[in-house]
Amino acid sequence: MTHSNKTIGHEVTIGKPSLKGLDVDQLASALAPFGKRAFHARQIMAWFYRRGVSDFAQMTDLSAPLRATLAAHFAPDELAVAAEKRSRDGTRKLLFHARDGEAIESVLIPGKNRGSRDGEAEDDRLTACLSSQAGCKLKCGFCATGSLGFSRDLTPGEIVDQLFHLQALAGQERITNVVFMGMGEPFLNYANALAAARLINSHLGFNLGARHITFSTAGIVPGILKLAREPEQFKLAISLNAPDDVLRDRIMPVNRKYPLKELLAAARRYADERGKLVFFEYVLLGGVNDSQEHARQLASLLAGFPGKINLIVYNQYGPGDEFRAPAPRDVERFFRTVSGLFPRVTMRHSKGQDIQAACGQLKALHQTPSR
Ligand code: SF4
Repeated sequence: MTHSNKTIGHEVTIGKPSLKGLDVDQLASALAPFGKRAFHARQIMAWFYRRGVSDFAQMTDLSAPLRATLAAHFAPDELAVAAEKRSRDGTRKLLFHARDGEAIESVLIPGKNRGSRDGEAEDDRLTACLSSQAGCKLKCGFCATGSLGFSRDLTPGEIVDQLFHLQALAGQERITNVVFMGMGEPFLNYANALAAARLINSHLGFNLGARHITFSTAGIVPGILKLAREPEQFKLAISLNAPDDVLRDRIMPVNRKYPLKELLAAARRYADERGKLVFFEYVLLGGVNDSQEHARQLASLLAGFPGKINLIVYNQYGPGDEFRAPAPRDVERFFRTVSGLFPRVTMRHSKGQDIQAACGQLKALHQTPSR
């Protein structure tokens, strides 16, 4: 097992736009001033997304003059990899710098979940956890990103380029799932997150099935309702973390705007319209939401709901953190109680604790050297 922390010298060309994040029509439009058409756009997309090549000089089925034109007018990447961390458990994390210097991070997570009484087997998967914003406005109490504040929305190209770099890191191993669960709230950057998801889904892009792409929201109700109307079968996850409004108001201030009743009504509409399960993420915070009473309340809140509960043990991000991981005995009891009352419960193994792999933590560490 390895545990490394290295800096990679790979610079993005500042000033030129990149072609990543454009769909085939947009790419054809970008090439039109140079007399090129959709055919060339499809060739470039194949190099980007099928072969993992962003250096125009290596796109050997393009003419030499076109390669020179592309290199003169466009940057090969949106993001530069600033640091890589590799966990003992196989989780890998990248810190990027955008062309304006914003720090963004993404995580590559090998997967094995513990299923509940519905007999779900452990599964093999490789999940890319992508950021949709630099920072976040929502200030969830347990989140390092929330404590950093908000900088800006990411462009579709910046979102897609995270996956490009993560796939390069994975090498021959194919990424099987994408979750918008990194920094930021995807439904507060809805258009760009959706454009990125469509490119990831497109057969000209990463060609990943929509059922393998999950939007995870802290509870932005209009976003849930919009996603329910999109033609693609994208999955919906809701970061729930509390079984009642009083506690949820405290640890997730977004609940004051969209309380549980409204949130669950929107989730129900998504489930009914799509005929799909909604995933409820519940991060277990020691002494806050991990009691037996909370477990019973959670099962009762979601009783009869076409959903699945994912329990996740909190990943403490520093000595000054006001929250702590729950005791292993409390985690076990919580899991047993909820899975005795609700049919679909998964206990996620906590990944990447030694590399601060929860959202925003790597960036927080880079910005707070004392930690
Ligand atoms: S948990 Fe997600 S929504 Fe909440 S502050 Fe962190 S990044 Fe934002």
